[in-house]
Amino acid sequence: MSFSNQVLVIGAGIAGMEASLMLAKSGKKVFLVEKLSLIGGNVIKNEESFPNLECSTCMVAPIQQAVLQDPNIETMTLSTVEKIDGDVGHFEVSVLKKARYASMTDCIGCGMCYEPCPVSLSNEWEENLGEKKAIYVPTAGSLPNVPAIEAEHCLQLSGKKECNACVEACMFGAIDLSETDEQMQLEVGAILLATGSDLFDVSQLTQFGYGKYPSVYTSIEFERLFASNGPTLGEIKIRNSDRQPKAVAMIHCVGREEQGYCSGVCCMVSLKHAHFLKHKLGDVKLFNLYTDFCVPDKTHQKFQKNIIEETQSIFHTSMKDIKVTEADSVLNVAYIDAKGKEASLNVDMVILAPAIIPGKDTEVLSRIAGIETTEIGFLGLKSGGLSTVETAREGVFLAGCAEGPKDVQSSVTQAESAVGGMLARLSSLTS
Ligand SMILES: Cc1cc2nc3c(=O)[nH]c(=O)nc-3n(C[C@H](O)[C@H](O)[C@H](O)COP(=O)(O)OP(=O)(O)OC[C@H]3O[C@@H](n4cnc5c(N)ncnc54)[C@H](O)[C@@H]3O)c2cc1C
Ligand code: SF4
Ligand code: SF4
Repeated sequence: MSFSNQVLVIGAGIAGMEASLMLAKSGKKVFLVEKLSLIGGNVIKNEESFPNLECSTCMVAPIQQAVLQDPNIETMTLSTVEKIDGDVGHFEVSVLKKARYASMTDCIGCGMCYEPCPVSLSNEWEENLGEKKAIYVPTAGSLPNVPAIEAEHCLQLSGKKECNACVEACMFGAIDLSETDEQMQLEVGAILLATGSDLFDVSQLTQFGYGKYPSVYTSIEFERLFASNGPTLGEIKIRNSDRQPKAVAMIHCVGREEQGYCSGVCCMVSLKHAHFLKHKLGDVKLFNLYTDFCVPDKTHQKFQKNIIEETQSIFHTSMKDIKVTEADSVLNVAYIDAKGKEASLNVDMVILAPAIIPGKDTEVLSRIAGIETTEIGFLGLKSGGLSTVETAREGVFLAGCAEGPKDVQSSVTQAESAVGGMLARLSSLTS
C-alpha cells in the first residue's frame, strides 16, 4: 500500500513552513513536526532581516498563520520523531507528542495564567537574557499563542508542592494538568528534514571573554537585545546595567578555524548589527575584526557598501591572537593587525559572530532517518549526483540550514527544490 498522499516535514523554521505550504497547495496532507511549543524557527528571533532589512515579523507572521490555518497541514508542536520504518511511498513514522497542558482550541492567548505562577526560570528561547514562568509562551507574538507548561519545573506536575494557580487564573477552562504525552503513528510517502542548525559555543574560546565579561555578547543574543519583543523591549543596554554602549567591536568568524569552514552568513549578520547600532544609538563607534569578508552575491555587496557608508564602521583584517580583557567596565580588544603589529581597541561592548554548526539533534536524526552526515557534521545529501535536496535514502529530502549554513533566501530556495523532488518522486509511484 502506498501513502503517497501524505508527507512529513520535520522542523517548522522558514524552510519547513514554506515547504509545508507548497506541499499542502499541491493537495498533500502534511504532518509538520516541531520540537518547540512555537513555530517559525530562527528567523523570528530577528527584528529585521538582511539584505533588505525588512521587518522579520511582517515577513514571517503571515507564513506562520497560513501554516496554522491550512486544513491540509497538521502542525504538531512539542513533538519529535522517534522512528522511521519502511521505504519511499510507505514510511511508518513514530512521533512523541508531549503534553502542552493548555487547549489549542479553548485558549484565547490572554496571558492571565503566567502572572500567578510562582516558578521563575531562565528563558532559553530569549538566549537566557530574560525569564519565563513554568507556564509560558517563549516570547510575545509566539504562534501558536497558547502557553505550554514545563512539567519538570511545574510544582504540581513534578510533585514538589500542590499548586493550581494557573488553572484558577484561566477563565476559559483551557488548562488541563491531567493531559499526557501521546505516542502517534503516521503513514507518509516522503519526508523532508528541515531542522536547522546551531551556533558554535563561543565559551570554548576563553580568549574572547564570553561568559566572563557581561558586555560580551553573541550575535543571536544581540538579535534579542535589539528586538522590540525581546527581554529589554529593544533597548540596547549592557547586561546587568543601564549603560548604553558608545563603542562596539564586532568580531566575525568565531569558531571558523575550529570548524574548518566559513559559514557564509556571519559577515552579513555583523554588518546588519552595525546598522542596528547606528540606527538606535546614533554616534556610536563601530569596529569590525574579521578573517575574510564573505559577502557572496550582488545584493549582499550592495548591502555591505550601504552599511559601511551609513555606519562609518572601521574594519581590521585580523583575527590573530585576539584577546578580550576588562578593566573598570571598559573592554580592551588586543589583536595582531594585518602588518603583524600588536594593536588594541577600547570598547564597551563586544559582539561575537559564532560559526553556524550542525543542530544538536543531527546525529540522532541521521540515525533515525537512516542517512549519513557530511564531513563537517550536517545532514548529508546523496553523494555522486547533482541533486541539492535528495539523500541516500529514497524519499527522504533535506532543506535549509540542516543541510549546511545558509541565509533565508537560500533556505527557501532549497525548500522549494525539495518540494519539487518530493512531488516528482511521489507521482512516479502512482503513475
Ligand atoms: C544571529 C543570526 C542572524 C541572522 N540574520 C539573518 C538575516 O538577517 N537574513 C537572512 O537571510 N538570514 C539570517 N540568518 C540565517 C537564518 O536564520 C537561517 O537562514 C534560517 O533560520 C534557516 O531556516 P531553517 O528553516 O533552515 O532553520 P531554523 O530557522 O533553525 O528552523 C529549524 C526548526 O526546526 C526545529 N527543530 C530542530 N530540531 C528538531 C527536531 N529534532 N524535531 C523537530 N523539530 C526540530 C527547530 O526548533 C526550528 O523551529 C541569521 C542567522 C543568525 C545565527
Ligand atoms: S490558558 Fe487561559 S489564561 Fe492562559 S493564555 Fe490561554 S486563555 Fe489565557
Ligand atoms: S500548576 Fe505549575 S504551571 Fe501552574 S501555576 Fe502552579 S507551578 Fe505554575
